[in-house]
Amino acid sequence: MKIDVRALQDGKSVPFRYTSLLPPFDDFGRVLFPHPVEAEGSITNRRGTLVLEGTWSVWAEFRCDRCDAPFSRKLSGSVTSILNDEDDRTLPLPLDGGFCNLDAIIPPDVILAVETKNLCTDDCPGNPNWRCFDYGGPKE
Ligand SMILES: [Zn+2]
Repeated sequence: MKIDVRALQDGKSVPFRYTSLLPPFDDFGRVLFPHPVEAEGSITNRRGTLVLEGTWSVWAEFRCDRCDAPFSRKLSGSVTSILNDEDDRTLPLPLDGGFCNLDAIIPPDVILAVETKNLCTDDCPGNPNWRCFDYGGPKE
């Protein structure tokens, strides 16, 4: 989804709403996104610098890293991005020919918010059928 910001004058804002299905994320266990991410915010011209500010939320399905049970959790976050920062070459340029490409901003921000370890509950005891490696029996 691209937003035309060519005519955005100093001090003005353009609001946006964004939804998109995200592909599964496999880097730290398998995370599925059965529903689209929903984001909203605005792009503001601040003396020639285009600043995107927004919030997003999405339901994600995980497998517990301790007991392997499936569970879902709502992830949410906020994003602030300077669109025409010529020095930032670490990410795909979100500004392309006067259009802001939200696909280059929102989905990567969601992926960065996924924890490396996901537990169904903070005190998940693990699967009782799995033996503790150290003691040969279930953990207490
Ligand atoms: Zn668990």
